[in-house]
Amino acid sequence: MKRNSWDSACLQLREAAHYVSVPSSLIEILEHHDRTVEVSVPFETGGQVRILRGYRVQHNNIRGPYKGGIRYHPRVDMDEVRTLAFWMTMKCALIDVPFGGGKGGIEVDPKQLSKKEIEQITREFTRKITPFIGPSSDVPAPDVNTNAEIMGFIVDEYRKERLRRGGGMELKEHIAATVTGKPISKGGSEGRMEATGLGGVYALEALLSKEGKSLDGCTVAVQGFGNVGQWVARFLEEAGASVVALSDSSAGIHEPTGIDIQSAMRWKKRNGTLSGFGGRAVAPADVLTLPVDIVVPAALEGALTKQNARMVRARYVLEMANGPTTKEADAVLRKKGILVVPDILANAGGVFVSYCEWYQNMHDEVWKKEKVFTELKSAMEKATFEVYGMSHKKHISFRVAAYVVSLRHLAEKYKE
Ligand code: NAD
Repeated sequence: MKRNSWDSACLQLREAAHYVSVPSSLIEILEHHDRTVEVSVPFETGGQVRILRGYRVQHNNIRGPYKGGIRYHPRVDMDEVRTLAFWMTMKCALIDVPFGGGKGGIEVDPKQLSKKEIEQITREFTRKITPFIGPSSDVPAPDVNTNAEIMGFIVDEYRKERLRRGGGMELKEHIAATVTGKPISKGGSEGRMEATGLGGVYALEALLSKEGKSLDGCTVAVQGFGNVGQWVARFLEEAGASVVALSDSSAGIHEPTGIDIQSAMRWKKRNGTLSGFGGRAVAPADVLTLPVDIVVPAALEGALTKQNARMVRARYVLEMANGPTTKEADAVLRKKGILVVPDILANAGGVFVSYCEWYQNMHDEVWKKEKVFTELKSAMEKATFEVYGMSHKKHISFRVAAYVVSLRHLAEKYKE
């Protein structure tokens, strides 16, 4: 992500504000973050102490507690986290869950750390941000390079730290609701792991249905084969599409007759990489420009640039990553008539099921996977149809329409 990603986010916001009548003070509020927290995260490695930088940004809570993932990546910085937190505010408003936007991260390459060290930095980071998070104030979740196990460490350390700070006084809150994306044994929800990928497929199917089309027989290329990429590929395949290309940070594969996604998932789990799985080897970035119907960026920000957007041959781009398309690339894709399902819609299934998890924790309920998926489908369809309708009514892109719908939802609460 570029240094000025926050400025680009503000431009997105102002562009959308042209098409909707909301108080100008709301736009001004959204152009500022409620709170930014930067902490040091010391940890011991090889007999030495290393200090990492950790961040938690709370963008806005007009609609409810701040909500957003925590990522571990060497490129994490305050600019990136601020932008991601803003997108969470817009996403939660669009998918209509009672959350605001937050995000966090640690500037670290977890691939260089042992499991024990990852646990150590997670617990240290949690102790530092404990005063700012909690079930009714700010609820973290997994993101790039973090997972259910790490969320489990956070909830566990948060509980301990609260008890320490309260002198051992019994905690009255629903502590499990402090974090979502936890292991099921620690209060996690059925279906959370698959939610972001499945939600993207529901959104795409809803959009295609408006055009009298379906996923049956469509060819797909997916960039990024982590939590989101694996599940979106799996559910696209289940819906009748043929996934012909995949990539992760170390390898890209192209198999025009279709890739068996479950086998690829098993391979990735066993080997930690797609490398050696089979198919024709391609550069990881090249999967974005292969001749397919649907391209799915599901890795990191800025994957589609002005340069490679010109070479995209797909009819649809399903943005499963946050911010995978630069502003310049977006203009190129629009000019080429390629339909972009924007990130705040395409990947909103993750936060929607995080809301289901939080709700279950807060109300001492346990839902079956079928119920979670039924709720998810209905939320994704509702948001997609709203965005589709707005886009056609105002003759604007799906991205601008998604922001317009979000702003409307935010304005309703703001006026209250
Ligand atoms: P992850 O860490 O599980 O997976 C990321 C994947 O991207 C890995 O396979 C990695 O190898 C790959 N990757 C990194 N750089 C790459 C490159 N240059 N080319 C090809 N592949 C590359 O992370 P995730 O949770 O799947 O998140 C992926 C994206 O989805 C991020 O933008 C994240 O913010 C967004 N997102 C995640 C969730 C969620 O529920 N996890 C929800 C909404 C949005």
